[in-house]
Amino acid sequence: MAAAIAKLWPDAQFAAGPPVDTGFYYDVDLQHRITPEDFPAIEEEMKKIIKANLPFERLVVTRAQAIEDARRGRLGALSDRPVPSKFKLDILEGIPDTEPISYYKSGDFIDLCAGPHVMRTGNIGAFKLTGVASAYYKGDANNPQLQRIYGTAFKTRKELDDWLKMQEEAKKRDHRKIGAEMGLYIIDPEFVGPGMPLWLPKGAVLVEELEKLARETEFAAGYKRVRTPHIAKEKMYKTSGHLPYYAESMFPPMELIEGGTAEGQSPDAEHGAQSAAQSERYYLKAMNCPHHHRIYAAEPRSYRDLPLRLAEYGCCYRYEQSGELFGLMRVRSLNMNDAHIYCTPEQFADEFNAVNEMYLKYFKIFGIEKYVMRFSTHDPARLGEKYVNEPELWKQTEEMVRQVLQASGINYVEVPNEAAFYGPKIDVQIWSVIGREFTLATNQVDFAVPKRFGLTYRDRDNTEKTPLCIHRAPLGTHERMIGFLIEHYAGNFPLWLAPDQVRVLPVTEAQIPYAKSIVDELRAQMVRADLEFSNDKLPGRIQRAEQDRVHHILVVGQREQQSETVSVRIHGKGQQGVKPRAEVVADILAAIRERRM
Ligand SMILES: [Zn+2]
Repeated sequence: MAAAIAKLWPDAQFAAGPPVDTGFYYDVDLQHRITPEDFPAIEEEMKKIIKANLPFERLVVTRAQAIEDARRGRLGALSDRPVPSKFKLDILEGIPDTEPISYYKSGDFIDLCAGPHVMRTGNIGAFKLTGVASAYYKGDANNPQLQRIYGTAFKTRKELDDWLKMQEEAKKRDHRKIGAEMGLYIIDPEFVGPGMPLWLPKGAVLVEELEKLARETEFAAGYKRVRTPHIAKEKMYKTSGHLPYYAESMFPPMELIEGGTAEGQSPDAEHGAQSAAQSERYYLKAMNCPHHHRIYAAEPRSYRDLPLRLAEYGCCYRYEQSGELFGLMRVRSLNMNDAHIYCTPEQFADEFNAVNEMYLKYFKIFGIEKYVMRFSTHDPARLGEKYVNEPELWKQTEEMVRQVLQASGINYVEVPNEAAFYGPKIDVQIWSVIGREFTLATNQVDFAVPKRFGLTYRDRDNTEKTPLCIHRAPLGTHERMIGFLIEHYAGNFPLWLAPDQVRVLPVTEAQIPYAKSIVDELRAQMVRADLEFSNDKLPGRIQRAEQDRVHHILVVGQREQQSETVSVRIHGKGQQGVKPRAEVVADILAAIRERRM
């Protein structure tokens, strides 16, 4: 695509062009404002390049050579140019000395790129430009604004067509659109801030139902619930290693001047009542683990106390670039279905297996049929640099994870060199009912951070040992999970999740008392039921209930009142006939209790 754009507009200055979930994009600085009307011309050039079946050649060059080429305007271009390739110069500066610098060349087009690429342009069977947007260079509003051109490519025409069809369907199911229609959440950038959803009453229902599901499931699995504050001192994150390495993803610190006496100290303790005012830095938590580690450390633990499973739907804050924020999928405040399992190496396999079982149980409840666990392992060549230098522990834990995955018959793939700093991780990818892929959650096996926090347990042989820690979040975050579920169900949630479960519609005023008695009976059992009576004719009220996505619509006329029955209508499924009231109520309660699809 870049080669085609360079052909049409040789003055184009390319910045970064990575692959993304939906294909790829390239950021370009260009006088001409690219619009979808330009796409046919760009696609025409791209077709010519594909037809020529040019090879993609990888060239490794020296830093000096790369800088020289960028100065001549040769990078991201078809030939030398009068102006330097300014973004490439900047990108080169950011590449560490230890990393090789590589070009990819196809035809006359040369670009700075780490790769990989397909072998030849002819390997691309079908492609399409899908959109254009603006984006700041490096996502920073102080940098120039660039044009971001999106595209996608597939091996065959059929794959592209299927993908386009799915995109159409996904557009209809867009969680931002349905979220607004149903009144689930709002984002208030002016008063609250971008990326921080406010859950409206109907959205809060989804949040609470998910928490209830987690609470029940975790209770049955022997978890203990804890609650922790949203902030902690700098010392916490220095100990965990998040500072300084993760600082960019955290909100900037709050500086607090604390004078006088500290809690727990008597006023005439040795420093005296007037201890010097001290400046302390506090950070909003970007993850819950450090707080949980401190709970573990709060009392001496023995092997008999393990496994200790601490669970919390913790609210974390992450500083995502404003350009990256997207509805509920990329946010700055996130409520995580978090838990940390502290266990001995002997207990690891059972614990890890139980976590996987929990995932499968949830997948079944939500009708998620396609998933994969991406098991990321370390690279022994990068120990002590990208990964903690514990070669034996890496080998052992990875082997333990591998064995559990194999024995359980779970669908997984192994990806080398993508582990977390402190242990192997498992990313869980799921597909919505229309075939779109989402990253739901990440599990990590951590054999390093518990040590940094000095966590120990007294083992059978009376020695102090460091526990393993499993980080897990099967329901991901509320934000992402609900974003996914909205698309998955197109807003037509199953009864147990539906914000509006039951609406009772009396045909005439005379049936209001009967209708009200049904609503009262259901509400007494925590069913979200309401009554609607207005001057509107019945068909109009039924239509409105369907628009509101009310799951069960119960119509009661004179006949129903006399015979203690109700006429049942289910959202999207139409008339179900007249049934005894007691039977309908019992069925509603059972469907909710069993979380039926
Ligand atoms: Zn954690």
